[in-house]
Order: sequence, then structure tokens, then C-alpha cells
Amino acid sequence: MKKYNFNAGPSILPREVIEQTAAACLDFDNSGLSLMEISHRAKNFQPVVDEAEALMKELLDIPEGYKTIFLGGGASLEFCMVPYNFLEKKAAYLNTGVWATKAEKEAKLFGEVVEIASSADKNFTYIPQNYTIPTDADYLHITTNNTIYGTEMRYDIDSPIPLIADMSSDFLSRPIDVSKYALIYGGAQKNLAMAGVTFAIVKEDALGKVSRQIPTMLDYRTHVKKGSMFNTPPVVPIYSALMNLRYIKAHGGVVAMDKLAKQRAEIVYGEIDRNKLFVGTAEESSRSLMNLTFVLKPEYQELQDEFLAFATSKGMVGVKGHRDVGGFRASCYNAMSIEGCEALVACMKEFEAKH
Ligand SMILES: *Cc1c(COP(=O)(O)O)cnc(C)c1O
Repeated sequence: MKKYNFNAGPSILPREVIEQTAAACLDFDNSGLSLMEISHRAKNFQPVVDEAEALMKELLDIPEGYKTIFLGGGASLEFCMVPYNFLEKKAAYLNTGVWATKAEKEAKLFGEVVEIASSADKNFTYIPQNYTIPTDADYLHITTNNTIYGTEMRYDIDSPIPLIADMSSDFLSRPIDVSKYALIYGGAQKNLAMAGVTFAIVKEDALGKVSRQIPTMLDYRTHVKKGSMFNTPPVVPIYSALMNLRYIKAHGGVVAMDKLAKQRAEIVYGEIDRNKLFVGTAEESSRSLMNLTFVLKPEYQELQDEFLAFATSKGMVGVKGHRDVGGFRASCYNAMSIEGCEALVACMKEFEAKH
């Protein structure tokens, strides 16, 4: 049976990206060696990093003065690198969920943190709209897509202070105005690549503004200066990122990804709203196009396990919601096909008919 991968992360990748990466793990660049056993300084690996950087620049229209780097440590390490590199006295955070809260917690180790708004009062089901950005803070940190709660800021906000965004779970799903940000970062395993690599797009002249000493590996300048090659980078994940960047380019770039995301969301949210059994969890105006969260209506709560088993029997993988929200979550990243969304909808309809 065909499986549809709705996992929130690590998550679906285009089949050809997986096949190309697998092939390079057997024989990289006709060298007779595996991608797993070559040096990151090998002559034929540098072009992989160079092309990945160049494709990022091209796909996202990254202006001059920014550098794309590939790191280890995940978005979670960035939570601490951000204040280490940017927080001199005070930072502002917008709290839109668990990941945002974790980012904020790290910043508190380095200085004063102002939470400018939070949607914790309604279990993070919405993106706060009314807040004031303190102009005396060193930066504002936002989480553009809240993977667990299915909410998203699918727009680039204006900030009078340097803007820093965790884009782990909606990166490369839409065009972004990079010039509005001092730093964009995220773990690759949601929409960019296999797990094991972290991306950061950093504005070079935003660095070096803090007075503290920064350990070499945690200093963005180290990685900018050394082109992601200060130490051994995650070679295989970077290769998979390159294959995916090529795939995105060949399939119309981020404009086409955005269009597809909207089509998928229309299909799945359309059914969530129509189906008598289900209801969406996020406020409509804050709904994510990447993670579509829904629950059974109160009167159908007892069908929880039955729907999960039914969906699984139809080939739907990973639709169980996060424990903080319950219910279900259909993660629809770039590689999720319209066909996959239609299969999920058919499954929801069939389940409704049974009840
Ligand atoms: C998954 C996720 C993270 C954590 O990423 P790691 O790479 O596992 O550290 C952080 N932020 C968001 C928005 C996420 O979805």
C-alpha cells in the first residue's frame, strides 16, 4: 500500500532526493568512495557546499551582505547561539509555543528578556497581533511556524530592531524578504533535508555587536569566515540539502512551493471544516500551511483511537497530534503531494460515513 508521510519532523522528502543521497552514499561523484567516508575537505565536496549556498541565495533572493552557513546542533543550539551573539543587554521575544518558549529560556541566561506578547492563554492557538516592539532591545525573536500548534506567521513583519527568526518548519515554503532579518535559522529536518544539519542565514554586519567573549564554535563569525568548514560539517545531510535545493529549483522555486502549500491547505482545511466529526484547533487567521492540526468534536471524542487506526490502515503515517494539542496533525511540507492530501480527505470522508 502507498504510504503518505505526514510526520512533523523529521519528515517527508522528495523521493528523488532520498534516492540521489542514497546513491552518493554508495558511490560519491564516481569516486568509488562513499559520501560517508570522504573528507569534507575533498576537492569534490567543496562544490557541494558552494552550490548549496548559491542555490539558497538564488531561491530566496538573498541580498548582498548575508551569508548562508550549515552547522550542527539543531535549532535547539541556535536558541543559545542567538543570545550569545546578539544579546548585549535586553532582548524581545514573541511567545507562540513550546519552541519559542525554549528559545526565550536560553536568552534569559544572557540578559534581560521582554516577552512582548504570548498566546499561552489559549494554548498557543493563535498568533498575537497587538504588541509593541521595544526599540531599546537588541533584537526581536520570532518563530514563524509553530509546528506543534499549527499556527504560522506567513509574512515578514517590520521590526525597528534586528529581527531573528526560527524558521525550522516553514523555511523554503514561500518567498521571504531576507533583508528584513538579521538572522534566519532552523533545523533542516522539517522542510530542507534529512536530520543532522542546521541552516543559518546571517547578516554579516549584525555580528560582533556584543562585548562578551564567545566560544569559538558558538560564534557565528567562525562559521561565516570558514564557510561552514571550521570543523567537520555533517557531510551527508548537507548533500541531501543540496539535492532538495536542486529539486525545489527544478520545480519552480519557492513561488511554486507557496502555491502548492496553499492548494494542499485548501484541500485539507476544507475537509476539516466540512466534516461533521472534526474541528480545527488553530484560529482561522493564524492557521499554518505546514502543520494542519485538528481534533474530534467533543461529541465524537471516543473515536480518537479508532480514527488513528483507520487512517493508519489507509496508509496515512504520522497523523497523530502532538501530546500538547492532542487529536491529529497533518504535516504538509514541500514534498507532500496533492494526491496525499486527497487521500487523507478521502479517509476522513470514509470515516465520517461510518459514523
Ligand atoms: C523542530 C523544531 C525545533 C527544534 O529543532 P532541533 O533541530 O531538533 O533542535 C525548533 N523550532 C521549531 C519551530 C521546530 O519545529
